[in-house]
Amino acid sequence: MNIIIFGPPGAGKGTQSKYIVNKYKLFQLSTGEYLRKEIKNKSTLGLKIASIVNSGSLVSDEIVSKLIENIISKNEYKDRIIFDGYPRNIQQAKNLEIVLKKYNQKIDLVLSLSVNLETIKQRISGRSFCSICGKIYNEFFNPAPKDADCCSTKFLQKRGDDTLDVATKRFEKYQEATEPVLGFYKNLNLLKVINGESPIDDIYKEINRIMSLIEAWH
Ligand code: AMP
Repeated sequence: MNIIIFGPPGAGKGTQSKYIVNKYKLFQLSTGEYLRKEIKNKSTLGLKIASIVNSGSLVSDEIVSKLIENIISKNEYKDRIIFDGYPRNIQQAKNLEIVLKKYNQKIDLVLSLSVNLETIKQRISGRSFCSICGKIYNEFFNPAPKDADCCSTKFLQKRGDDTLDVATKRFEKYQEATEPVLGFYKNLNLLKVINGESPIDDIYKEINRIMSLIEAWH
């Protein structure tokens, strides 16, 4: 099964994707995480896109298309990808259809976490991640364990684009470019909207409930 998870920045896509990946043995294709790694490693691509990503703009469709085809084409990930952060606009959604068809695959489920801007601001100002394992925390809602080997304060980092100004810009970009993509998947009868304001565990339970229904169809 291939899944897409949508939601504005700070909606909890990354956190929920990591749970789903563990439970259903899927592969998380997070275009944002991949791009942040390139920036951290100061690769040629990383140097080219650093200022774009850190300002909250989108990188070119061409760059992300190559990245997703690289993953979709691999047999080991066939029919077990969760797309997190892709597609971001209608053009990318159309491209995804073409690439999936080329490799005899399709999207089985589209999840959308809906969250308002005030919640986003709170979540983003408290968000950090463990530089060792990648787990995402929030100092207000979901603090990292104090005495752990991994995830202790000294390993926690903030994303370069997690400032209030940039988060607001990313939210607006989401509403303008990405929300129209939801209509595309609604027409294909694949869209399930989830209240992303709920506590993390409740969202996860709701996703599990939806996933169990989908699994039953197979
Ligand atoms: P995310 O981790 O999904 O919030 O993405 C962080 C940033 O990476 C975005 O603000 C964009 O600059 C870039 N990015 C991630 N995915 C895409 C995409 N599908 N298309 C264009 N830019 C992207």
